[in-house]
Amino acid sequence: MKVTIWVDMEGVAGICVWPQVMGGAERYEEGRRLLTGEVNAAVRGAKAAGATEIVVLDCHGAGGAYTFNSFLPDRLERGAEYVSGHAWLRYTEPLEDCDAALMVGFHAMAGTPDGVLSHTISTEALYNAYINDTLVGEAGLCAAVCGIRDVPCLLVTGDTATCREARELLGEGIVEAPVKVGLGRYAARHMAHADACDLIEAKAKEALSDLSRVKPYKPDEPAAVRFELATAEDAKRYTAHPAVQREGDRVVISRAGTFKEAWDQIWNR
Ligand SMILES: [Zn+2]
Repeated sequence: MKVTIWVDMEGVAGICVWPQVMGGAERYEEGRRLLTGEVNAAVRGAKAAGATEIVVLDCHGAGGAYTFNSFLPDRLERGAEYVSGHAWLRYTEPLEDCDAALMVGFHAMAGTPDGVLSHTISTEALYNAYINDTLVGEAGLCAAVCGIRDVPCLLVTGDTATCREARELLGEGIVEAPVKVGLGRYAARHMAHADACDLIEAKAKEALSDLSRVKPYKPDEPAAVRFELATAEDAKRYTAHPAVQREGDRVVISRAGTFKEAWDQIWNR
C-alpha cells in the first residue's frame, strides 16, 4: 500500500497564533516540534496499517528559508520519505499508483468563526476559493488535487471546524482526528501534544483499514477554479496564464476541460 500524507501546520494541537507557524518567529521552533510530532504519529499509523511506501509532503508556507520546510529532519520517523521546498499542492508525482491520502495539521477555510488560524491559501490576500460553484478550503483543494489521480483522502486532522469542513465536502466516511476546538481565530482548547499524537496514530491506522470509505473527490468537468482576492493587485498575480480571466477587479477564474488543467493554469503552468 502506497500512502501520501499532506501536512499543514495551523491545525496542529498547541498552535493558535501566527508566531508559531512563521519561519524565524519567536515561537516557530516550538511549532516545528509539535508539527513534527504529529507527522511522525501519522507515519506510525500508516506503517501499522501496512503501508509499504509513505511520502509526506510539507505544505506549509512558513516564509523565507522555511517555506514548505518546517519539519525537523533529525527527528523524523523512520520508514517514510519527506518532501520539502516544493510549491504548494504542485508536486503530484507521489500520487501515481497511490492508494490513499491523509491530511494532517489542516485548518479551516477563510472566514470560519471557530477555525483556528483560518484562511485559504493566503492569510490576507484571498477571501474565497471555489471549484465550480463549491466554496472550498485547503482541505477541499488538496482532495481535488489527489482526485486528479483518483486518490481518496481518508483522514483529516486539525481543529473541529476543519474536520467538519472536510466531512461536509468529502462525506461521512472520512476519519477525523480533532485535536483542538477553536474558540476564535487565535484561541483554542487543545489536546495535550502526546494525546494528540496517540489519536492521530490510531486514526491514521483506522482510516487506512478501509480504502473505499471515501470516494476520490472529482469535481464536475469542464471545471473552473475561482479565487476572490482582497485587492486588484492580488488578483493580478494569478492572471499570467492567458486562459485565466478577470471577473471584475478582484476575482480571477480559470476554466478548462479538466480540473487538472484549470488548476495548472491558475498557477501559470
Ligand atoms: Zn499552513
